[in-house]
Amino acid sequence: MDEALIVFLDRDGVINQDPPADFVTNWTEFRFLPGAREALRLLKQAGAKVVVVSNQSGINRGIYAAEDLEEIDRRFKTAVSDSGGEITASYYCPHRPDEGCACRKPGTGLIDQAVRELNLDLERSRAYLVGDRRTDIETGRRAGLVTILVLSGHTLLAGDARDWPVPPDHTAPDLLGALNYIL
Ligand SMILES: [Mg+2]
Ligand SMILES: [Zn+2]
Repeated sequence: MDEALIVFLDRDGVINQDPPADFVTNWTEFRFLPGAREALRLLKQAGAKVVVVSNQSGINRGIYAAEDLEEIDRRFKTAVSDSGGEITASYYCPHRPDEGCACRKPGTGLIDQAVRELNLDLERSRAYLVGDRRTDIETGRRAGLVTILVLSGHTLLAGDARDWPVPPDHTAPDLLGALNYIL
């Protein structure tokens, strides 16, 4: 039997444009990156579980409300479904860095929560994390995932990652390109 395929995805800079003002505060600011919906469709077609893990400290910074994030989340998942993909689940950390929570990446709290709630067995799966920041790559490494850096968001040049303490396993221009390492 094929091993399960689990793909953890950061959101901003991977699925949608990294927002210029740091945060997507409402649905009108959410812009899918080119090829992202196509990539999500291909992942669903391959039977992958797709789990979004995203820091959204704008909530506890008071920049937008939890309800705003819920609406963005609902509408974004609907748009993904409408184009043939599927987000299995999404997990967000609302905390500011100074709150010292376990869920803000590079902590693995969001992944741990997904593993518990979705009964994932990472040991017996092919499991990946795709992200656009150093903290994403550190999160993936800590959780024992294969890490893929995409250059469609915060990190724009592969060379920028060269001296990171935890370098990515792979680098791709965007999510569609990352599928070359996954599918
Ligand atoms: Mg990001
Ligand atoms: Zn948190």
